[in-house]
Amino acid sequence: MGKRDMWKKFGGLFEARNLPDLGPRLPKAPEVKLAVMTQTLAGFDDYQWGRYAFSREPLEGRFDERQKARYTEEANRCGGEWAGRVRKAYGESTPRLLAEKMGLRVRTTERPAGGGQVLFAQFVRPDEITVFTDCIRRAAVLRQESGCPLLEPGRLMEVLLAHELFHAVEEQNAEQIYTRTEKVELWKKPFSNRSTIACLSEMAAMAFARELLGLSVSPYMLDVLLLYAYSREQAWALYEELRILGGLKEGGT
Ligand SMILES: [Zn+2]
Repeated sequence: MGKRDMWKKFGGLFEARNLPDLGPRLPKAPEVKLAVMTQTLAGFDDYQWGRYAFSREPLEGRFDERQKARYTEEANRCGGEWAGRVRKAYGESTPRLLAEKMGLRVRTTERPAGGGQVLFAQFVRPDEITVFTDCIRRAAVLRQESGCPLLEPGRLMEVLLAHELFHAVEEQNAEQIYTRTEKVELWKKPFSNRSTIACLSEMAAMAFARELLGLSVSPYMLDVLLLYAYSREQAWALYEELRILGGLKEGGT
């Protein structure tokens, strides 16, 4: 199984899927200083993150590069716009207070029940957000070494919450929000079957958090930085893949 396929299996890491037990199959990636990774990823633009988002998208094969670039633009626009709308509607941009005003329940717990998972946060329909504090505690230790201000515990909590808030916004505005209304036809016969594109929702959630909190970098970089807090080897492998996806390095086989 190629390196890309392996990472594809568990999708983006933000709400976090299972931390894969790759064992000896773990792709060997060069060791890179955390500060260097942080700096490189801080320079990624929406299109570079978009290529990462689509690399985890089950429907990726249906789109060409131009379509993906357009989807990326639209998803980022959607996230940014809704941050503005929500801020205006509730007169609030602090994620915790916004959650309250939106009628959401916010829970914090150390880690998911059952264990064995790296999970940062989750939104459960219709109205519950959970933030897992284990990753916040681990990230705090890396704050200095990384130089990334998003790892500061209070800030990280806000970023995780803001991302999940977007999923609640989607739920509450399903009829009109781009990430829910934009669909592709999977097949037509005998019945039309149209599907949303999952990675648009993730890109928009990152853009929402970025705009709401006025961040100068994309919260997408937390996929690597928080993974590093659990497994350096896996963070290096993901970083290597991102450099290829981002066009900073020629793709290997
Ligand atoms: Zn998400």
